[in-house]
This record gives sequence, structure tokens and C-alpha cells, in this order.
Amino acid sequence: MNSFAQVLDLFLPPRCVSCGKIVTEHNTLCSLCWQVAPFIHAPMCQCCGRPFTEDVPATAICLDCAQRRPPFHQARTVFAYDEFARKMVLSFKHGDRCDLAPILARWMIRAGPDLIADSDLIIPVPLHWLRLFRRRYNQAALLAHEISKQSGLPVQAQALKRVRPTRPQGHLSRLARQQNLKGAFTCSLDLTDKTVLLIDDVLTTGTTVLNCTRELHRAGAKAVNILTIARVFHPHSQ
Ligand SMILES: [Zn+2]
Ligand SMILES: [Zn+2]
Repeated sequence: MNSFAQVLDLFLPPRCVSCGKIVTEHNTLCSLCWQVAPFIHAPMCQCCGRPFTEDVPATAICLDCAQRRPPFHQARTVFAYDEFARKMVLSFKHGDRCDLAPILARWMIRAGPDLIADSDLIIPVPLHWLRLFRRRYNQAALLAHEISKQSGLPVQAQALKRVRPTRPQGHLSRLARQQNLKGAFTCSLDLTDKTVLLIDDVLTTGTTVLNCTRELHRAGAKAVNILTIARVFHPHSQ
């Protein structure tokens, strides 16, 4: 948003950040959107953040994590990925809605307060420079800077790089996704004894964040936490 738009904004009534309906304050959702927004609440898996339908102790982990502990320490997300979350993520990513970054960052901090407290620095999932050039901004980096501003944690936006362009992951099988991303990331920072907060917009199969997590561990990271806007929870895995 340019400064003219920001000035203009002061004189316009605040609107719901999702549907555009007039509301009483800036940077919020209308009551209807609050009701349908798929916010993730406790109880959830202590490790990956998958919500549980029944009440469980706060230390419980899901079946997937019990069978195979993921390489990251903890993962949290604001939304379960559905039509509402998809619309919000797409307008943020492709629709020039950079103005959504502060509110998304605020919700992300709220979704993972212990991850924020536990981490030493923030690193966003990188875009290859070619895609960055086309899209003009990296949505994960934008979120990382906002979370840094609001939480006080330092951000190292250039630490992780995508060393080669990868095909969009959308329609690839799990195996093809893994091959597509193999060796795609490199970390230039010495992360010895550091706990990293890795930021991405959407977690679908997890291949991207898992590859980044491995690379951060290779660079010395003690632990990696993952914070996203939305995550696809695959029904077959519980
Ligand atoms: Zn609304
Ligand atoms: Zn889990």
C-alpha cells in the first residue's frame, strides 16, 4: 500500500480484512468472518500442532508424531487450510494485499507464543530470485519481518537461499516434490546452538519446510520451530 492509500485509509471506514464489509476498527475481521475463520485451537499435538477433536493433556502428541518424530521441534499454524484460508493466503500472495502482513503476523504470534519464546532468530522460507523478481516480494520474508517487529526477535531474511529454481509444487506427487526440492536450499549462516523459527505461508505436504529444516540443522541449528498461516491437515494421517 502506498502512502497516499494509507492517508486515504484514515478517512475511510475500516473494513473486514477478508470480505471487505464495514467494521468498527481497522485490521480485523467482521463477526461473520470470525465465525467461519478456521482458527486452530487447543487441544492440539504438542509437536506438530494438529488439532485433537477430544480433550487430551497438553503434553499429548498425535499418532503421526508418535510413530515418526518430525525433524522440527514444534510446528504451529493460524488456520487449517480451507476455502477461507485459501482466499486470504492467495490475496496476500498474489493480490498485492501486503497490508495483510501485520494482522497475519499478529495471528501467527498468537498461534505460537511458546515457539516465539523458545527461538533465537527468525528465518523465512526463501523464494528463488527469478520468482522473487516476478512476484516482487517474498510473502514469507514479509511475514518474518512483521513477526520480528512485533515480537522483538531478530530476523535473518537472507540466511537461507534457494540455490536453484524449483517447479511449483502444487500438482506434484509426494515423491516428485521431494526430488524437486532435493538440495534446493542452502544456509550461509553458522547456526550453532541456535533455535530457529522458520516462517512459511502454507504447509501442504511439508516437503519444503522439512528440506529447509534439514538444511538449518546442517548449518548447526539446535532446533527448528515452524510457524505458518495455514496448514493442510491430511485426514488419512490420524
Ligand atoms: Zn468479513
Ligand atoms: Zn503431531
